Amino acid sequence: MSKSGEKKGDYSGLEQDLHRCLKCGTCLSVCPIYRETRLETESPRGKLALLQAAAEGDLDAARKFRQLMLFCLGCGRCAAACPNCVDTTSLFYDARAVLSGYMGVPPVQRLLFSTFFPSHKLMSAAAFFGNIAGKISAGGIIDMIFGESKPALMAGFFKSYSWPSFMASYKEKKSGGEKIGFFVGCLDNYFYPETARNIVRLLEEMGYAAVVPQDLSCCGAPLLSLGLKDEAKDLARRTIAAFEDRGVTKIVTGCATCADIMKHAYPHLLGETGEDFAENVYDLVGFLTHCGRPLPGTGKIEGKVLFHTPCHLGQGLKLADEAKDIIKSVPGAEYVEPEDNDTCCGFGGIFSFDNPEFSAELRDKRIKSILDAAPDMVVTACPACRRQIDTGLRKAGSSLKTLHLADFITKNISGG
Ligand code: SF4
Ligand code: SF4
Repeated sequence: MSKSGEKKGDYSGLEQDLHRCLKCGTCLSVCPIYRETRLETESPRGKLALLQAAAEGDLDAARKFRQLMLFCLGCGRCAAACPNCVDTTSLFYDARAVLSGYMGVPPVQRLLFSTFFPSHKLMSAAAFFGNIAGKISAGGIIDMIFGESKPALMAGFFKSYSWPSFMASYKEKKSGGEKIGFFVGCLDNYFYPETARNIVRLLEEMGYAAVVPQDLSCCGAPLLSLGLKDEAKDLARRTIAAFEDRGVTKIVTGCATCADIMKHAYPHLLGETGEDFAENVYDLVGFLTHCGRPLPGTGKIEGKVLFHTPCHLGQGLKLADEAKDIIKSVPGAEYVEPEDNDTCCGFGGIFSFDNPEFSAELRDKRIKSILDAAPDMVVTACPACRRQIDTGLRKAGSSLKTLHLADFITKNISGG
């Protein structure tokens, strides 16, 4: 009960999972936040204890938990390491939804993530104007006025939109072959359209017909992080419907986060409908591993290649080794493994805007381990990690390039 004697929020759906936590602390050693701060309250176990108190009616604990959710990368390491199968990922999303239900969501964030992000038209308009703003402020005017504030960081992020986006320039071919749906996702569509084109090219070179629904944008990850569960459900239904009548056998995405959300959060949100859809969802690594067709390309890549494993790929989809195997299979590529390779780049979605300094600290550690391994190129399978690593490499004065796996493979097809 709260101090006023009034119990707020319905936590009943969370209690079973909460009680499964044995407080053993296994999750502490893998949490990138706890590894740095060594503060129990900021660890997964500490967050769960606060959530437990919130579920028992402690309003102060509820507020503190909500604040601490801004200090969580959503990396999934705690869930993957838990010996008692506490699904902290779903639990934290559900808890955010309960809290947002009675504490509300800031209107600007609600507008941005529930209206803007899911709308391809609005996002395209933002990409267009963001691209112009980026060119106008090439001298860093925005940065000079707003410094390192949160709005400035977000403006800095969005002003580097690439125009035309993939969707704005894509024309579907009427080719034969098994139909594979391609879920582009926000970041590849608006920041890395060349990568999106390379994924389609790769599918076509492998004899598939790529099917790209034109009206999709976001997978729903930011909505879940904000606790907007009903909006996330609507978006999941829309995504499923967009592929339903197109005769696709599988759905592929180049973003490990989108794949993890569609594979694990959609069943949690939509039950059987989500499960049926999730069964056929693959990130590019999973698709190339399981499709049974050889990689195209007769070219040869000379050099040392390092693969940065995105958290959602390694922890959520459990495909870290498969990604490395793909790289090793390319003629001429020498795979190099950095020290402490199971580490987060520090981006964590909106975490990087809420905690820019901490995010940069984690990033710079990652960059150091990458540079120490002295690769000729860095490859990854998540556009957000790619952006974070690229930023870190530039800040470290390195000219090393970060490629998406699709860019790396199609480089092999075309010989550069
Ligand atoms: S590892 Fe699992 S059971 Fe142990 S403290 Fe963490 S969440 Fe609880
Ligand atoms: S999701 Fe990652 S950052 Fe968040 S509590 Fe779990 S291990 Fe820590």
